Amino acid sequence: MSNCDNVNKNLSIEEVYTCPVCYHGQISAITLMDAFSCNFCNHIFTVDLVKQSLKIADSSSPLSWRWNGKKWKANRTQVKWSWVIKLLAVGFVLLPTTLIGLSAYFFPPIPGTPLCWLPIFWTGLTFLSHLTIIVNIVIDYYQFPVKLYFKALGRNLWFWISPQNSSI
Ligand SMILES: [Zn+2]
Repeated sequence: MSNCDNVNKNLSIEEVYTCPVCYHGQISAITLMDAFSCNFCNHIFTVDLVKQSLKIADSSSPLSWRWNGKKWKANRTQVKWSWVIKLLAVGFVLLPTTLIGLSAYFFPPIPGTPLCWLPIFWTGLTFLSHLTIIVNIVIDYYQFPVKLYFKALGRNLWFWISPQNSSI
């Protein structure tokens, strides 16, 4: 087994590669199968040597990557982040927040009333919820599997701190 020195080479079933899901473990071929598995996150990938691509096999997400000879590139439709999209994203976060913030500023609640904190809270909640939507779109675009990554990280952390492991 070679040790990740597969720079500028075609994708091969005999080589070891960095896992495109967790960027932590290494993927290598499963015996007698055209598939790779990761030694960190345990995900299984099907390999297409003709297309030089890898597809995750044990997830509902249709994630796939192409080997460019040096590293994995996520397969996705080519949509460029133009300045119009960036402007729309910023507007999507700031416009509703500004509107709610301004209404809270011009029509302030009577101090000391039970829900006088609500306008400020609502303004913050508007900002956070709209920001979350944009962040989710960006994560989706880059196909970075955040959930799978943290699941794998949690599983490995649990393995290291579990009492069965420490007593060995
Ligand atoms: Zn992995």
